[in-house]
Amino acid sequence: MSLSAEPHSHLDDMDLRVRALETLLVEKGYVDPAAIDRLIETYEVHVGPHNGARVIARAWAEPAFRDWLARDATAAIASLGYSGRQGEHMVAVFNTPQTHHMVVCTLCSCYPWPVLGLPPAWYKSAAYRSRAVAAPRSVLADFGVTLPEGTQLRVWDSTAEVRYLVVPMRPEGTEHLRESELAALVTRDSMIGTGLALPAGSTPESRAP
Ligand code: FE
Repeated sequence: MSLSAEPHSHLDDMDLRVRALETLLVEKGYVDPAAIDRLIETYEVHVGPHNGARVIARAWAEPAFRDWLARDATAAIASLGYSGRQGEHMVAVFNTPQTHHMVVCTLCSCYPWPVLGLPPAWYKSAAYRSRAVAAPRSVLADFGVTLPEGTQLRVWDSTAEVRYLVVPMRPEGTEHLRESELAALVTRDSMIGTGLALPAGSTPESRAP
């Protein structure tokens, strides 16, 4: 089963239920629609994978920051201005030629909001949550990622306490790039572990949405 095979009727159904709930809460005066709009705008515009990409680029460029990220990811990430809900207890896991890390929340959809924004629909799908554990290599294949034979695959299960950030391997031939140029090679999926960083020379247009 492909991850994109989540039946649309399910999403439509969920959409209707969310709308019905929102209407009820607004009618009863429990929530302010403007406040909801601000919250959504925050996570759609201001908070997103571009935050995480800055963290990764800094870790690639500065060994001292990389060490800090490995020791205390929450503090290192907060030093760049990214903290808050669902980012209180961050752990960074570093991909190497020997080990590739991938993140899932088998229970629900725990995700590091301050660095990645809101989780994509597939991350919350039952298919991903079960298959990431049962058949991680075939999940990677669905995402177009094939690891070298000898690379070990580790899957991390997020919890309410801990949120993981995958630090992808720095692409070859990027020694001369500035931090902002490095950040442009870091995709959202590469920080979940379902993708790799883009090769040097990739244009911003080729980034995953
Ligand atoms: Fe969860």
